[in-house]
Amino acid sequence: MTTPRIDFDLKPSAQPVAATEREAMLADPGFGRHFTDHMVTVKWTEGRGWHDAQLQPYAPLQIDPANMTLHYSQTIFEGLKAYRQPDGSVATFRPDANARRFQRSARRLAMPELPVETFIEACDLLVKTDRDWVPGKDEHSLYLRPFMFATEVGLGVRPANEYLFMVIASPASGYFPRGVKPVSVWLSQEYVRAAPGGMGEAKTGGNYAASLVAQAEAADQGCDQVVWLDALERRYIEEMGGMNLYLVRNSGGTTTIVTPKLTGTLLPGITRDSLLTIAEDLGYGTEEARISTDEWQAGNADGSITEVFACGTAAVITPVGHVKSARAEWTVGDGRPGPVTTRLREALLSVQTGQSPDPHAWMHRLT
Ligand SMILES: *Cc1c(COP(=O)(O)O)cnc(C)c1O
Repeated sequence: MTTPRIDFDLKPSAQPVAATEREAMLADPGFGRHFTDHMVTVKWTEGRGWHDAQLQPYAPLQIDPANMTLHYSQTIFEGLKAYRQPDGSVATFRPDANARRFQRSARRLAMPELPVETFIEACDLLVKTDRDWVPGKDEHSLYLRPFMFATEVGLGVRPANEYLFMVIASPASGYFPRGVKPVSVWLSQEYVRAAPGGMGEAKTGGNYAASLVAQAEAADQGCDQVVWLDALERRYIEEMGGMNLYLVRNSGGTTTIVTPKLTGTLLPGITRDSLLTIAEDLGYGTEEARISTDEWQAGNADGSITEVFACGTAAVITPVGHVKSARAEWTVGDGRPGPVTTRLREALLSVQTGQSPDPHAWMHRLT
């Protein structure tokens, strides 16, 4: 059965941001501070399904105080980037993977699944309309934020019967203000991000709400970021803030990048997945395993774990330079970005920015 195509109603903005003002924002956009001229909205109602798809001027929403999302948090999101290509065209990175993960997040939160084609079409439409907002320099990009939330009004606890899917876009330079400088991390023993059977695999705001107090604790400890451990034993590393983690292991002349395996409590990152493939292409070994903090500390001490980095769409690849917990503290390698980290970062970014070939057909070109 094929999904009926949804037609988008086009309502272009009568008052787009002036070109000079837009160029000023694009000079140093930061992350998530400026938004483009338009947004996409698609409604879902029980019995009727997806309908009323629109491209319209970016504007605030009016929310009823009894909106169910405000009370019970039925909301999910995605994050992907559009990059300017050398020929001036624009391409997004693996939007189909984001679309499928959005469906899995929806299932976990008892929300309706948006067809993959509609997700991609909504992103394409927004990028095409606001293409002047796609930065053209360095590693800057247009960050797309698709999301969906319950719009039904009422305080009864059950899956809502009405939802709104939206896409907004924001020009982005670096996610971390200090660029690719290594971050320091705090191993959180007190707080956990997600437990088995919970929502750890879903991209939902609730996981972020749960993380903020631990992030504040990390900051109190003088660290930039929190590293989550497994909920049951508090021994195995899972993620760093909103990014997946990799260790670089050197033994017997081979270099292997090792990442925590997907146990259901961590977010299956698309950057994480892409790096497994890129690393193989570059001749590195790859492994998905359970990694304990003791193993990490011991491997660091005996020199077999030489580098550690975090990865995700927003910040791409960020080296980890220093680790601290209630019991121990160590510097990763010499504390500077390592060669494998740097090589993987450049390899991924050069596919995304169209500087190198795209053997896995990850780039989705907008025509
Ligand atoms: C989004 C996210 C990631 C990274 O996923 P990407 O698809 O690589 O951007 C990792 N961890 C968490 C908690 C996330 O929300």
